[in-house]
Amino acid sequence: MFCPQCGSSDVELHEGLCKNCFLKEFQPLSIPDEMVVTLCAHCHSNLQEGKWKDLGLPEEEIIYRTLEENIQLDSLVENPEIDLEIIQMRGSIAECLVSLKGSVLGDEIYQEYQVNVRLNKSVCPDCSKFNSGYYEAVIQLRAQNRTISPQEIQSADEIIKEALTRMWEKNRMAYLAQRAAMKEGVDYYIGSQKSAKRLVSALREVLGGVVKESPRLMGQDKSTGKGLYRTWISLRLGEFRQGDFISYEDHIGQVLSMDARKIVVQDMLSLEISSILWKEHEKIKTVAQSKDVQITTVTSKSPQEIQILHPTSYQPLDLDMKEQFQGYDIGEEISVIDIHDKIYILPKNE
Ligand SMILES: [Zn+2]
Ligand SMILES: [Zn+2]
Repeated sequence: MFCPQCGSSDVELHEGLCKNCFLKEFQPLSIPDEMVVTLCAHCHSNLQEGKWKDLGLPEEEIIYRTLEENIQLDSLVENPEIDLEIIQMRGSIAECLVSLKGSVLGDEIYQEYQVNVRLNKSVCPDCSKFNSGYYEAVIQLRAQNRTISPQEIQSADEIIKEALTRMWEKNRMAYLAQRAAMKEGVDYYIGSQKSAKRLVSALREVLGGVVKESPRLMGQDKSTGKGLYRTWISLRLGEFRQGDFISYEDHIGQVLSMDARKIVVQDMLSLEISSILWKEHEKIKTVAQSKDVQITTVTSKSPQEIQILHPTSYQPLDLDMKEQFQGYDIGEEISVIDIHDKIYILPKNE
C-alpha cells in the first residue's frame, strides 16, 4: 500500500493514510475553544436546554460539568485519561486546561487543550420572584382564646428556618418572603403553596393545632390561563399547652404532649394515658394551667388512702391510694392541682 501524503509504500493505511500521516491529522478529542453557561447568580442553578436545573452547585462544579458535557472523544482512543483543571478565573471567564492521555493505534498520545468557560450570570425566574417579594401562601400562626407565647413563636421560627433550609436545596420557591409579627400571632409569607403546606406539617408535628385553608383567587396566569390562587393557612394552636389540664367527655386530664394528629393526655383519676385526636378539639375545655399546680405535703399513707394537706386550707384530705402514689413518703412535698374545688395528686415525674 502507498501513502498519498508522504509517498511511503508498503504500509498499512488508516483512512487512506499511513499511520504517521494519519496520527498527524488525527484529533483524538474535540472541545469548543469557548463555552458559555448561563447560571443564576443567586441560587447557581443553570440553564440547560431552556430549563433551569441543578441549583446550589458551586461554580467550580458547574465549570467542570460544562467541560465534561462538551468533550467529544474519538472512539480510536484507548485507555483515555482526561484531566480537567481551572487555571484561573478572569472576571466571569474560567480559563481551563483539558488534558488527554491515552493510546491510538498502539502509540501513546498526550494532548492539552486550553479552553474558556464563560459564566453568564443571570437571575432565574424563581429567584426573580423571590427578589420581587412574591409569595403564594401565608401561614397565620394563632392560638385559641389566648395569645401565642414567646416560646411558641421562637419554636415556630426555628422550625420554619430549619425546614426552609432543608427544602431550599431542591425547591427555590421554599423561601420566607416576609414575616409579620402582630398582637394575635405571626404571619409567615411563603414562596410556594407546596412549601407552605410542608411547613405547616412541620409546625404541627411539634406544636399541634388545627389547620384551616382559605384560597383566594388573585387573578389569572397570562401564559396558562389558569386561576392564580394565594392561600391563607391558619394554624390555630390549642387553648391548652403541654402541662395544662383539660376536660374531655367527663374526664379531667393533664396534657403530656401533642403532635400533628393527637393530644396525649393522662387521666387525673385513673392516671391512664390516652390520646385525643385534634379533630375532636371542640370537645376539649381547658380547666387549669400548668402554672396553677400547687405544692403540699403527704401526712399519712395506708394501702387504701393517701392523706395530704389541702394546699390552701391546710385541712387534712384523704384521697384514694394509687400505685403511682405509693412511692411518695410521709412528709414529702408533692404537686397537686385544684380543679373545680376538687384536689388531684400529680403522679411522680420519673
Ligand atoms: Zn504517509
Ligand atoms: Zn435562581
